[in-house]
Amino acid sequence: MSLADSVQLLVDFLRKGKGNTTLLTGAGISVDSGIRAYRGPGGTYTIRKHRPIFYGEFIQDEAMRRRFLGYPPVRRAESNPTHYAMAALQKMGYLSSLITQNVDGLHHRAYSDDLSLYLSPPSVKPTEAPDAPLPPLDPAILELHGTLRHAHCLSCHTPVGRDSFQDRLSELNPAWHEFQKEVELGKREEKLNPDGDIELGPGVRYEDFQVPACDQCGGPMKPRVIFFGESLEPLTRRHSEHFVSSASQLLVAGSSLATFSAYRLVRQMKEQGGPVGLINVGESRADPIVDWRVGWEGGAGDIFPEAVRELLKDEKRPDVKAEVERMLKAGKVRKVPPGPAAS
Ligand SMILES: [Zn+2]
Repeated sequence: MSLADSVQLLVDFLRKGKGNTTLLTGAGISVDSGIRAYRGPGGTYTIRKHRPIFYGEFIQDEAMRRRFLGYPPVRRAESNPTHYAMAALQKMGYLSSLITQNVDGLHHRAYSDDLSLYLSPPSVKPTEAPDAPLPPLDPAILELHGTLRHAHCLSCHTPVGRDSFQDRLSELNPAWHEFQKEVELGKREEKLNPDGDIELGPGVRYEDFQVPACDQCGGPMKPRVIFFGESLEPLTRRHSEHFVSSASQLLVAGSSLATFSAYRLVRQMKEQGGPVGLINVGESRADPIVDWRVGWEGGAGDIFPEAVRELLKDEKRPDVKAEVERMLKAGKVRKVPPGPAAS
């Protein structure tokens, strides 16, 4: 299918379900922001140079050490034109909600310049009571697998901003901090051992790594990300089901739907009788059940911005029009640097 035909298919789909479409995104959307997509048997993971981390390993502090080194590239990553185009669809009222499997926060960054929106942890602790009301999400972006933007206490669930958490890790681990800065400046290279561990330099020992304790209760802190082998937060699961049940159709982009938590949302939409469209490079688990699919032949970065340009012709509100025009000029493409093959 040509790019023009793909764009037209997307535009028609969005017009038909205006205001009632849920968009589900995956790692493919962040590749143009320089974040490498990792696929594993349990799903998709988006930290550069790191193999998927299992929850059990985290408890041994292993994952935290790797994450300390893996966070800075994500902290610096910027939203690309596809993130901005999707934010523009939200501003123009085409989407009722956006559900992402990505943990990089780049949908939030594209939606608003307000960095406090991006970096502030939620002010309330998650309540997992099955009948608790769903907290309002503004913007309506649900991070299905959690987020690297915040950390929280595993015991009392008190949240902290991820940047301040990273700074505390740096203070507690000055040798690691130096090592990480040298890696970033290109003075030292991170090397991956066959077992997936990063090879560290002299004076940087795994066993010396210190993890800060919770201010409130002394419990262990962890980035608010769902690790492999861990299930979704119950509240997040309910929220995702609610977003799908209150929509009339589902659009999937940049995901092979390898994780069941994402695939089941496609099944949910099909069971409630709504159409599902899919835009993805390569095959996906949902190919046999979706109503249409586009293989992104025209290039990942083109379909969504082109569709937004087309839909913008219908936009009558001058303020929205101006904001969307600004968004269409924003966004940088950063190619993924060469590195070891994904596990
Ligand atoms: Zn605590």
